[in-house]
Amino acid sequence: TNYRKDGTPYQVEWQITPLSTDPDGKVTHYVSIQQDVTERLYSNEQMLLLSTAMEATSDTVLSTDTNGDIVYVNNAFEQQTGYKREDVIGKNPRLLKSGEHGADFYAKLWEQISSGKTFRATFTERASDGSYFHQEQTITPVKTRDGTITHYVSTGKDISKRVEMEHELQRLATTDKLTGINNRLRFEQLLEHELERGERYRRRLSLIMFDIDHFKIVNDTHGHEAGDNVLQDISRVVEEKLRSSDVFARWGGEEFMVLTPETDLQGATELAERLRVAIAEHNFGKSGPITASFGVAACQNDDTVRSLARRADRALYRAKDGGRNRVETENAN
Ligand code: GH3
Ligand code: MG
Ligand code: MG
Repeated sequence: TNYRKDGTPYQVEWQITPLSTDPDGKVTHYVSIQQDVTERLYSNEQMLLLSTAMEATSDTVLSTDTNGDIVYVNNAFEQQTGYKREDVIGKNPRLLKSGEHGADFYAKLWEQISSGKTFRATFTERASDGSYFHQEQTITPVKTRDGTITHYVSTGKDISKRVEMEHELQRLATTDKLTGINNRLRFEQLLEHELERGERYRRRLSLIMFDIDHFKIVNDTHGHEAGDNVLQDISRVVEEKLRSSDVFARWGGEEFMVLTPETDLQGATELAERLRVAIAEHNFGKSGPITASFGVAACQNDDTVRSLARRADRALYRAKDGGRNRVETENAN
């Protein structure tokens, strides 16, 4: 450390070289070269600070060259992904691919960052043990002064907890707590969605509505809990008879709906009949036997959720009126 005349310090690298000009080899002169390295030392210190910060942060940091080969990962990256630094240096970040994002997603990413822009998105990645995690990532190109891209830096914030919570909230909001099948809200959303698929599709969309017969007696005789068990059992019995494309929901207390895509009125009526038999033949223990009444309607072009449900409900009413434990189809009009 040297000091200027005004007293301010500066750092030098000081090299002193002896010059032996004497015939006896005696040193007669020295050359001293001083180089001010204050800036360099300062930037080294900055570097140290930055890399310490990178290692201390809980966000993952990954840097690649322009080929996409990893040149740096921080400590949080190792923690989150389970990969050691030496496992990933020189490799492509695609080793984290979960398969949850399509080719479009990556094409957009590359288009954006290779044109010098920042890309932000929620990523689902796969850790070294095969488990998935969710990150909010920001990928930024690193450019030289003249604008040439030399590296990409990706920082990722772990949002797995938030995503899990969102999924759980979504599940709670759309399923019926007692039976575990879709609730009415979800059913209406799905039916709405099916109705949006166009006229040709609508012609083969049918709705089955059913209601347990004299269910009040089950509750009055065996208690509310026994009634709840019947609702759960019926859900399982019906679920077993449905295709994966059918949508099954609890519509109200002891009323259920089945939406059958790609099924005309006749097909839906036949399915309803199979469901009726399955329930009537099921062993409900001391609560049994149990039967249900069914109403079936097929979608028409101008149907809304309400109008379609109303026609199925009317048919169901006729099934009740006609003696219960039966299937009625809407009147052709
Ligand atoms: P119907 O054949 O005309 O349909 O007669 P019902 O007794 O089934 O019809 P009603 O509408 O008179 O009674 C329905 C009963 O369903 C009344 C209500 O206590 C019962 N219920 C509705 N939701 C639940 C539930 O979540 N658990 C239980 N245990 N009972 C329920
Ligand atoms: Mg009933
Ligand atoms: Mg009812």
